[in-house]
Amino acid sequence: MSTPLRIHHLDCGTMCPHGLVPLGLAPPDPGHLVAHCLLVEAPAGLVLVDTGYGTGDVADPRRLGPARHLLGARLDPRQTAVARVRALGLDPADVRHVLVTHLDLDHAGGLGDFPNATVHLHAPELVAARARRRDARLRYRPAQWAHGPRWAPHATPDGDRWRGFERVSLVADVGVQIALVPLPGHSAGHAGYAIDTGAGWLLHAGDAFLHPDEIATPPVRSRSLRAYHRLNSADHGLLLENAARLGELARDHADDVDVLCSHDAVALRRHQALRDGPSRALANGA
Ligand SMILES: [Zn+2]
Repeated sequence: MSTPLRIHHLDCGTMCPHGLVPLGLAPPDPGHLVAHCLLVEAPAGLVLVDTGYGTGDVADPRRLGPARHLLGARLDPRQTAVARVRALGLDPADVRHVLVTHLDLDHAGGLGDFPNATVHLHAPELVAARARRRDARLRYRPAQWAHGPRWAPHATPDGDRWRGFERVSLVADVGVQIALVPLPGHSAGHAGYAIDTGAGWLLHAGDAFLHPDEIATPPVRSRSLRAYHRLNSADHGLLLENAARLGELARDHADDVDVLCSHDAVALRRHQALRDGPSRALANGA
């Protein structure tokens, strides 16, 4: 592709969890977490990656359950993905595909604001969210998908390979290459999305890591952050394994792959600083 893809970096939720400073996420971070979503202006329509909190959460915060307080979610209607899309002068009805990294409450809240979109996800995530085992009731909130989305679960039994990752699945025919990259661990069917921006690849890795130091060489995690992952991962071993693979990817493909995660406010600001463009230029050292 010769023309760089237009990608908007949206903040669709502010969170101030009590344990933020001990987690080592602030300072120097600005003291809060963000919900970093992407809006891709693909040739065949708009593609939204993750949805943050939605208008349904703002209207009825109780549907989020107790996790809302644990996360310190500040629910602001202006931060919802649907409001962000409108603020860009775009029509939410043109969002044809929503790609979710997983169905945790801080990622799936906006699904109901795009009722006609096809919702792509890694198949095991839909199974886990529907089963909603006792230990998953805080994270999965069925009210967020009670409208009955048109699910497109990707089973990826064979799949392709992408930069050393296996069982990768092309998500949709949207005129641009976007691939689902299975990254289980944080949740059972957690996945990232690799987007061919036309000027390198952008990988939205969701909650596969929370801080860029986790994919540094060598990786660095505070004791509290390690404890957080142990407590909040569906499979802690897989989470660490995939974070290590993402670290290798970031190191070995630094020239053509930019890896970001959902909740890093500094990275979001950096990407937003390069307005409307692919994120390569400021990806390294900015
Ligand atoms: Zn999250």
